[in-house]
Amino acid sequence: MTELSSALLEFVAAPNVTVVLSEDGCTVALESAGKPDHTSSYWDSGNDSGLYVEPEDATLFDAQRSPGDIEDYINDYNLTVPVSPELASSSSATPLGAIGISISGAPIFNDSEGNGDVSLGVIQGFDRNGAHTGPQTYHYHLEPKAISYDDDSLVGIMADGFLIFGRRCYSSADYPTDLDESNGHASVTLYTGSGAEDAEYHYHVSTEQYLNGDYYLIFPGNFQGTPGDIN
Ligand SMILES: [Zn+2]
Ligand SMILES: [Zn+2]
Repeated sequence: MTELSSALLEFVAAPNVTVVLSEDGCTVALESAGKPDHTSSYWDSGNDSGLYVEPEDATLFDAQRSPGDIEDYINDYNLTVPVSPELASSSSATPLGAIGISISGAPIFNDSEGNGDVSLGVIQGFDRNGAHTGPQTYHYHLEPKAISYDDDSLVGIMADGFLIFGRRCYSSADYPTDLDESNGHASVTLYTGSGAEDAEYHYHVSTEQYLNGDYYLIFPGNFQGTPGDIN
């Protein structure tokens, strides 16, 4: 195998992600500076980026937001994953910090904030993309609406090499009903062939409402593959 899959070509096309296929074609290295290619209230309000947007509720946001603007964080995220990841014999818990790289360039975090679960107070400090800054980077905890909003868009790639899509699945255009405890399942996607033999394991953004609100955790489960380090 010496060519990138069509899904990985989406990352090649993404302005804030760099993709390099290994010489033997078995692994792919992704690199990003952790900054998103979309608007956020976490860009500096001086708007040098051209991507700053006012928060929905400025008073609440100012009270609950995390310290620092996107520009304040200098990062270089590297992740090397197999081109054809396989399910592990047992799942593994996700660590704090980056657990995946999204198609926007910003990292994906799990459902924890420090030592606790993401709380309503933390959510009130998120931008419209379920994201905030700190401790080292801008990152998503919830469905990143600029990438996917109640649809089947490609959201990113997790540290175990499996892709993550929005709440809906291309295979049915609906919410998947056969998800495992990591919101994963095997089915065809936009990037596979259409036959039963083309089914590939992938994750979805959680379809369960979090804290009874219009909030959907991006990756609350365990890795079902073997995660590489994102460093
Ligand atoms: Zn966080
Ligand atoms: Zn699916």
